[in-house]
Amino acid sequence: MSGLLHVDEDEIGGVHIKYLLHCPRQLWLYSRGYRPEQGSDLVAFGEAVDETSYARQREVDLGAAKIDWVTTGAVVHETKSSRAPSEQHAAQVRHYCLLLERRGVTVRGGVLHYPVIRRTVQVPWNAVARESALEADHGARTVIGLPAPPPRLPRPQCRGCSFTDYCWGD
Ligand code: SF4
Repeated sequence: MSGLLHVDEDEIGGVHIKYLLHCPRQLWLYSRGYRPEQGSDLVAFGEAVDETSYARQREVDLGAAKIDWVTTGAVVHETKSSRAPSEQHAAQVRHYCLLLERRGVTVRGGVLHYPVIRRTVQVPWNAVARESALEADHGARTVIGLPAPPPRLPRPQCRGCSFTDYCWGD
């Protein structure tokens, strides 16, 4: 069908899920190759934390999605530079659990690591979590397949978004 972007199973990654939950328009723009955050200090900081905090952990590459490592029993670990645990982070981990399960791996659950605040958060993997992951996966595909970008969020909700220049012309 013209105007629709075909998305293979592996092309939905953790970033897609994060953007979907933050703003569908952000996901749509990202899926079209828009990358305003590449020069962001915040992103650079996050990558630095990823590189230094768990440098000796094995990284597993699931195509578009990356996870920090998988321990025995398939526990998905993900490191965040944020100071605040969020539902977006948990949704990303659930998505990685889903990707692993689709490859026949028995997944026990996930753990979010916040080295800056020295905290970990458990992310259960069960029927409810699987349903939530499937819904997010479907939602991301639906947004990416839209022929035009979804509307902007109300301006106050755009504060701090790296796509602000593009959406608002600031
Ligand atoms: S600036 Fe606002 S509307 Fe644009 S992608 Fe970011 S959150 Fe969405």
